[in-house]
Amino acid sequence: MTLTAQPEVVAAPAWQFFDASVAAVRRLGPSFVRLTLTGTELAGFGAAGCDQRFKLVLSRDDAGLARLRDRGQAWYPEYCALPEEQRPVIRTYTVRAYRPECAELDVDVVLHGVDGHAGPAASWAAAAVPGDRIVLLGPDRPGAGRAWGVEWAPPPAARTLLLAGDETAVPAVCAILESLTSGPRSVTALLEVPTADDAMNVALPAGATLRWLPRNGVARGSRLVPAVHAALCELGIASTPATPPEEVGDELLWEVPDPDAASGCYAWLAGEAGVVKTLRRRLVGDLGVPRGSVAFMGYWRQGVAS
Ligand SMILES: Cc1cc2nc3c(=O)[nH]c(=O)nc-3n(C[C@H](O)[C@H](O)[C@H](O)COP(=O)(O)OP(=O)(O)OC[C@H]3O[C@@H](n4cnc5c(N)ncnc54)[C@H](O)[C@@H]3O)c2cc1C
Repeated sequence: MTLTAQPEVVAAPAWQFFDASVAAVRRLGPSFVRLTLTGTELAGFGAAGCDQRFKLVLSRDDAGLARLRDRGQAWYPEYCALPEEQRPVIRTYTVRAYRPECAELDVDVVLHGVDGHAGPAASWAAAAVPGDRIVLLGPDRPGAGRAWGVEWAPPPAARTLLLAGDETAVPAVCAILESLTSGPRSVTALLEVPTADDAMNVALPAGATLRWLPRNGVARGSRLVPAVHAALCELGIASTPATPPEEVGDELLWEVPDPDAASGCYAWLAGEAGVVKTLRRRLVGDLGVPRGSVAFMGYWRQGVAS
């Protein structure tokens, strides 16, 4: 595989709030809804492709949101200073597709917990109808050098690529896979999803493999962890057991390797924090995969509001 060139990026990114509204709602499967967001301001959104992240900003109080917007790029200290009841709910999502020519952006939202303890973002998405207003927070242009908010960065020497994650990582993994072109690389993607009906059609580059791993009610990670282990053995990445696993704390794990590392393999792993920690222990501790070859990203925590 060869990678499509990263977009030319010329200036430092600027955070910006974007007004948008829901243009279309499409149920993709039992666990996913695709929202197409639109608004004239979105023509200037700085999407750089792959796993580009941005924030959905759910306003609880117009005055609180207005105070953040007044601060421009320095919104965060103001956000921390706002009383709880005025503070917008902010959640991180992936740009699944971006069409600047029609100022549209697609986001695929996992409807986790909507039958019980749904978080505010999943609840909002589950009830969304065309015309609903929403505010986005994202870059107004791609960042300088490495694109802002994009973690996918295999070293040029990497010839073996592994992507693995749970349902929250599906939009990022699908967008990454669709950005790849055929070439002398091996690409394996493993996605654990709640049910078999959550599998989606993805335009894969020649030679790439994508396996959907339906949980069907078994414990989170119980399909993904062994599948990653098996894939690493098949790919010849796993070596003999190395150092003992390192202790990791309760915080969201977020470790991304040096994009200039001269490694022959590169793994991108994202999903529920506990599962990602298990994968990290398994890969780095048990299998001796070099830490510098793997991006580990805790996207969310089961039962804990972001
Ligand atoms: C870089 C990045 C990209 C991401 N991209 C996407 C994406 O494209 N699509 C996507 O769907 N997700 C994505 N995520 C994950 C998303 O940000 C989280 O799932 C987020 O927590 C959802 O917000 P929420 O308000 O719905 O739930 P939160 O309020 O944040 O709650 C988190 C989880 O805990 C559960 N929960 C909350 N309170 C309780 C309670 N009292 N008891 C039991 N359970 C509870 C909720 O049901 C939910 O499952 C991404 C995350 C990151 C970091």
